[in-house]
Amino acid sequence: MSIHIPSSESIAEAARVIREGGVVVMPTETVYGLACDALNDRAVARVFELKGRPNENPLIVHIAGLDDLPKVAESWPPIVEKLAERFWPGPLTMVLPKLPSVPFQTTGGLDTVAVRVPDHDVALVLIEESERPLAAPSANPFGRLSPTRAEDVDPELAAQVPMVLDGGPCRIGLESTVLDLTSDEPRVLRPGSVSRADIQAVLGRPLGSAPPPAARKSPGLYQRHYAPRAAVVLAEALTSGQAGLTFGEPCGPNQVRMPLDPRAYAAQLYNALQRLDAMGVDEIRVVLPPRGEAWEAVHDRLKKASAS
Ligand code: AMP
Ligand code: MG
Repeated sequence: MSIHIPSSESIAEAARVIREGGVVVMPTETVYGLACDALNDRAVARVFELKGRPNENPLIVHIAGLDDLPKVAESWPPIVEKLAERFWPGPLTMVLPKLPSVPFQTTGGLDTVAVRVPDHDVALVLIEESERPLAAPSANPFGRLSPTRAEDVDPELAAQVPMVLDGGPCRIGLESTVLDLTSDEPRVLRPGSVSRADIQAVLGRPLGSAPPPAARKSPGLYQRHYAPRAAVVLAEALTSGQAGLTFGEPCGPNQVRMPLDPRAYAAQLYNALQRLDAMGVDEIRVVLPPRGEAWEAVHDRLKKASAS
């Protein structure tokens, strides 16, 4: 795999690949993404093919700032500007009506587009230099763990793209919060590190409590997702010899001690699962973290990783 340290030369090269319709792996603060020109339907089709991702699963479009929103969204309610001021750059994705120039390939056939500003210098410079909004789903085969380090990118996938830009470990480590703003009642489609309380504080009113939309509206809602090869089993505790994630003192090399802080836990989760997976274990037992809103995104991913 062709891992590049980000420099003005390597980012300029990656931007050239993107302008020519190619795909590169880029770091963001959430997870590593397979980035391409979001307005080029052939480039986007290649991303779906590389991931083995079902076509109806919309991609998130990454822009460099609120000023870029008119390049992809047709309209937006005034609250978008307040949310952007508070959370962008950062892990909040907003779903808005799309412009006709955004291909249906990118939006999974929907007339809405999901958009965010990543909080990572390499991603921001790459967006600016390629002069395109970038579609960037996680750089993993569909349904698998998202990479949170350049070396965790699936080698088969990495071999098929010309460049992997190594931006170091992802600060957040879980995919962004997805907020649907296309109806009167804003709704969280996928929990992430921007919590419901954070969003409600800006909205000045409660989020919509309507039932979740159909699975196709949000691939993050697929039952099994974010999963290692090994079976994930949620557990109360680990006994000696069992491979897994614990909060206590690990007994043996196949146990990983996780932090009791939700942000630190999220930042380490995928890498910890990946390391155990790489040991070839059949089963990874995960000691359940505490409940509470700060842990919602972690519980969401653990539930999906353990679904059969
Ligand atoms: P990922 O698989 O991490 O690239 O994330 C894609 C996420 O974006 C999904 O979980 C969806 O929830 C969300 N998404 C993207 N586009 C849309 C859209 N047009 N409408 C609703 N959700 C979307
Ligand atoms: Mg993904």
